[in-house]
Amino acid sequence: MRIDHLETITLRFEYADGFRYAGGQCTARVTSLVLVHTDSGQVGIGAAYSHPGLVHLIVQEQLAPLLVGEDPTEVESLWQKMYRITRWYGRKGAAMTAIGAIDTACWDLRGKSLGQPVWELLGGQRLTCPAYASALLWKEPAALAEEASKLIERGFRRVKMRLGYGGDRDRASVRAVRDAIGPNCDVMCDGSMRYSLEDAASLGEFLAEQNVFWFEEPFEPEDIDSYVALSSRVTPPLAAGENEFGLQGFRELIRAGALDIVQPDVSRCGGITEAKRVADLALTAGLRVAPHTWSDAVAVTANAHLVASLPHGITVEVDQTGNPFIEELLVEPLVVHDGLLSLSNAPGLGIELNPATLQRYRLEDPLHLPDGSYSDMIFGKSFL
Ligand SMILES: [Mg+2]
Repeated sequence: MRIDHLETITLRFEYADGFRYAGGQCTARVTSLVLVHTDSGQVGIGAAYSHPGLVHLIVQEQLAPLLVGEDPTEVESLWQKMYRITRWYGRKGAAMTAIGAIDTACWDLRGKSLGQPVWELLGGQRLTCPAYASALLWKEPAALAEEASKLIERGFRRVKMRLGYGGDRDRASVRAVRDAIGPNCDVMCDGSMRYSLEDAASLGEFLAEQNVFWFEEPFEPEDIDSYVALSSRVTPPLAAGENEFGLQGFRELIRAGALDIVQPDVSRCGGITEAKRVADLALTAGLRVAPHTWSDAVAVTANAHLVASLPHGITVEVDQTGNPFIEELLVEPLVVHDGLLSLSNAPGLGIELNPATLQRYRLEDPLHLPDGSYSDMIFGKSFL
């Protein structure tokens, strides 16, 4: 099997209302898929969550010419080739994300050619992956409580909420969600990078009292010293990594003792190959792994295959904010029952894209995104 060509697909939709969080009002969502087409007719599927125009340029202008004619099942050596050629401008950010989407598609093809699911190729033995509902953005406490109850009714046993309000509002919001889900379900709190060390330490003590499962990203990703300082105080386990890339980036965090739970995202940090290396390093440091995902069902699935293969993999994130790239992208939608996401026994990632969804949300020109606040990326000054 040889690579014939690469296809990049940008998907975009606009919310009627959107949601509020510490970063402002989210008005739209965007994600990218990369398809690796082969001469055998098999197609590998990968996801990239980054600036869609940059992903498109890096994939089509630099990586595709390098990869056409290569055997896609040689994933690790292809990863090295892609990393070396992009190192000068890459290493973190869009280049690593683009490499990762191709890498994930190649893992999908490796599984398809061997007739094995990716989770099994990675050493896993289970057909399910623990999953948590990622939602509960900024709302009044009563509305948060109502939403949290609905997420539990939907089959989740863990929910993640967003903080960053500051002061009493943080505490009232956590109390409302904790009361709604009861003591037998877990709640995680995302700090959205909005805290000083002292505020995080004070809030962390309260979160520990509330038996919060983890405290995520209280600080900006570059502020490793604050993570290290906070980790010695009384708080729930500290989690971060959605803004980190590659083994070298995570090595710095892990060596510093900054985290208890690492959150590499296959669709951001360099694909299944690199996220697996990060997870292996985390294991040697006695840390647990809980990948970030937010963008689409391909990314969720790829991250779930990794978690399902890891002895120290805790759980995978599933966006529950009403994202059609989660709900409508796959022919067989994601199913969560009693806190577990079902994985397919089919070869590769075991997923098929819904052509009607691709057609409906496809943005023809990824280089010119309409202005908007896309949750993690903002285009246009008026949305700042
Ligand atoms: Mg987060």
